Amino acid sequence: MAKKQKTAISPTRAEDYPEWYQQVVRAAELAETSAVRGCMVIRPWGYGVWENIRDGLDGMFKATGHKNAYFPLFIPLSFLEKEAEHVEGFAKECAVVTHHRLEAGPDGGLVPAGELEEPLVVRPTSETIIGATYAKWIQSYRDLPILINQWANVVRWEMRTRLFLRTAEFLWQEGHTAHETREEAWDETLTILDVYKTFAEEYMAVPVLTGEKTAGERFPGADNTFCIEAMMQDRKALQAGTSHFLGQSFAKASNIQYQSREGEVEYAWTTSWGVSTRLIGGLIMVHADDNGMVIPPRLAPSHVAILPIYRKEEEREGVLAFCETLAEQLRAVTYRGRPLGVELDTRDMNAGEKGWSWVKKGIPLTVEVGPRDMAAGSVYVGRRDQERNERYGQPKDEFVAAVPDLLEAIQASLLARARTFMEAHTRDIEAWDDFVAFFTPANADKPEVHGGFAMAHWCDGEACEQKINDELKVTIRCIPTDRAASGEGACIVCGQPSSGRVAFAKSY
Ligand SMILES: [Zn+2]
Repeated sequence: MAKKQKTAISPTRAEDYPEWYQQVVRAAELAETSAVRGCMVIRPWGYGVWENIRDGLDGMFKATGHKNAYFPLFIPLSFLEKEAEHVEGFAKECAVVTHHRLEAGPDGGLVPAGELEEPLVVRPTSETIIGATYAKWIQSYRDLPILINQWANVVRWEMRTRLFLRTAEFLWQEGHTAHETREEAWDETLTILDVYKTFAEEYMAVPVLTGEKTAGERFPGADNTFCIEAMMQDRKALQAGTSHFLGQSFAKASNIQYQSREGEVEYAWTTSWGVSTRLIGGLIMVHADDNGMVIPPRLAPSHVAILPIYRKEEEREGVLAFCETLAEQLRAVTYRGRPLGVELDTRDMNAGEKGWSWVKKGIPLTVEVGPRDMAAGSVYVGRRDQERNERYGQPKDEFVAAVPDLLEAIQASLLARARTFMEAHTRDIEAWDDFVAFFTPANADKPEVHGGFAMAHWCDGEACEQKINDELKVTIRCIPTDRAASGEGACIVCGQPSSGRVAFAKSY
């Protein structure tokens, strides 16, 4: 029997996937739990990833005509009550502010005082407060469209939390647009869906399915919800971004009316769309391995870690000087319009341990420099998308010149690997028995590993959707945008006619 290979993260993905995830987050120093239940501390390395997600998306939003603005954290309770489905969808997870002052209590502690006339809800999402503002801004068709995005934090009171994937407070962006016509709002919804798909593939190196949610999975109050869905390494789906066509329901609730070109008073058509720090959870579950985090170069807070190695004190000065020159040379190199991020790690610790700490953090490249490398004018390069024993020596200047191409090669290899994985675990399934078998763990001891994406026919009936959810905890992740291309067939549950396949999976 082969000797079990030692990994930097224990347990491995195969041994205990949920625990592996927590250990990767910890070892990579991405985030940690806080003194406030359900709320996380995002550490600098994790926040650096978020900053790059934010900057990448922000550029794409602006390139499609959007501008940023900021709206209040608090929403008057009466605003939330205006849209019935919306309030029903969020009521159970709202944090509510009822007082605005603290007074000394009888036992020396502080007690809330100054009860508010109307409670304020800490925003779970901002459709209602932004709608009230738009109602003031919009009088005429000349005031449309309004294309605004907000970068903010939101609160959805969650008790069963997991870092990045489900937390009571999280960071996100929420776009809110208002339009003159249904067609314009519909186009906006799909434009953003395309932005999200492009971002997932080109920045996150995560391939996604795109499509529409079923009525049961829609955003509360939306007419249509579109989504991108990614496959994690435990073969579950992660909803990574949503774009909602809100029709006129929120415009009616917030009274967003305008005078049309024909002089009639009309309700505007609105959309909303968002992605959150959940994307970082997705990055981990798609790319990380049994040695820790793997960050796609386009989102990496830093790109290269330089690790000076010396045994004797007299070697120290020379090696450090060589490494400082290398760092300077690298910082003068541009990667995708910005200087390379370089970490020169001079910590006084064991060289092996130091190297592994960067592997666990998922930095795309490590460069070791010892006295012999220095004498030869070369460096010892490790790629995070390859095994540690595939490291290679290279002349320093040659390496410096090659870094941008090397990073793009890593970016491409991560996307290709994730796509191969998703395709390998996506299956067309025709018969109910095969469908059940697909979603039944082969090994009952490791029930967290599931089939994947099942592309199967569905009659569009809620009862069939519900049966699958009840019996297998499997949901329709999306009705693919190109559903018709898969041809007609018979519903996997009831056998009634289906106009094309939809994507079924277990999900986060
Ligand atoms: Zn059916």
